[in-house]
Amino acid sequence: MSTEQALTRPLTMALSKGRIFEETLPLLKAAGVHVAENPEESRKLIIATSNPGLRLIIVRASDVPTYVEYGAADLGIAGKDILNEHAAEHPGGLYQPIDLNIAKCRLAVAVKNGFDYAAAVRQGNRLRVATKFVHAAREHFAAKGVYVDLIKLYGSMELAPLVGLADAIVDVVSTGNTLRANDLVAVEDIMPISSRLVVNRAALKTRYAELQPLLDAFERASQPSVA
Ligand code: AMP
Repeated sequence: MSTEQALTRPLTMALSKGRIFEETLPLLKAAGVHVAENPEESRKLIIATSNPGLRLIIVRASDVPTYVEYGAADLGIAGKDILNEHAAEHPGGLYQPIDLNIAKCRLAVAVKNGFDYAAAVRQGNRLRVATKFVHAAREHFAAKGVYVDLIKLYGSMELAPLVGLADAIVDVVSTGNTLRANDLVAVEDIMPISSRLVVNRAALKTRYAELQPLLDAFERASQPSVA
């Protein structure tokens, strides 16, 4: 995209549908921005807001860092799980100023109920681990000194141990309901996850005046409330 194109369009924020979209609405509201449309219903991928200078684009969660890094979006919101994987391939590509404290969950190792994970690790067995989060998984098991064969999957990780594709999975866990429904159990936490705001490095300079009020409002609205 040319610099001129990037400067004349409204500020563009990349978001994924579902939990991140829902939990971003109150932050936008705190910044005085209202979103009239629900992307789940309208199926639109470009969504206007009450602020003519700001529009939203709806992309897959794992594509948010890519849109922002290449400048097709000026800013975006994505989970630490996704940002970590992106940063492993594109170090320093994104400016990450604010932990929004939304869409909280954790990255964990899970196995089929009855699989003795502790014994497998103790005995030095080579584990087959299926995951979308290859970088985080590799770091985790390397730090533990556990040998693993990583199998990259793009979704439905919970299925892998049930059909013999893997001994364990590394996945995000929130309530644990998905694991329970599939007879899996979390055996190790890797890291807590929350969603963060990311900003394109060039936009931070060229569009700072427009970005700053939004970043300030997000920062204020996302502080954990002090009881
Ligand atoms: P749960 O059943 O509540 O533990 O949710 C687990 C499933 O929901 C996982 O397989 C994830 O795909 C998805 N999930 C839950 N919370 C998040 C989140 N904050 N970010 C991304 N995916 C999530």
